[in-house]
Amino acid sequence: MALLLIFIFGCLDGAFVGYLLAETLRPSIRRWRKRPWTGYDMAAIAYVVGWFANSSQDLKIEFRSLNSGFGLNFSEAQYDGTEKIITIDPYVVDSPGRLVAALLHEICHHNQADQGRIVIGMAGRYQRRPIECEARAFSRAWKRTALRIYRSRTNPLGTP
Ligand SMILES: [Zn+2]
Repeated sequence: MALLLIFIFGCLDGAFVGYLLAETLRPSIRRWRKRPWTGYDMAAIAYVVGWFANSSQDLKIEFRSLNSGFGLNFSEAQYDGTEKIITIDPYVVDSPGRLVAALLHEICHHNQADQGRIVIGMAGRYQRRPIECEARAFSRAWKRTALRIYRSRTNPLGTP
């Protein structure tokens, strides 16, 4: 068997063997050295924010890593109530569906802060459970609608 394999590889071109090897290893390399998602549309995001956020004009959206990068991704997004910034981690959030869900969750926290219903800790984490439950429910309830609104801007043929 081993001799047969050596014979087959001997017949193949070196570059082709390299290509086969690279193709076999590619998925694990991508998972190991994951690149940030860049497929989001800022204009469409601003449009969605305008639909769901209170006083959306002073709300900023940014994309950067929120996790240390050991393959453990604890948070996909966060809201900074003092600066009014929603940060989304493009290493975790990698599709329009996940983007819209994370965005809605943080928009809900922004609205809670806007209504004076939130106490913001140093790390921007919310210890009060009802606040967190509300954000999760808000995201679940509006995800499909928000995704349609998002897609209506990324795809000119789509309708909200
Ligand atoms: Zn939350």
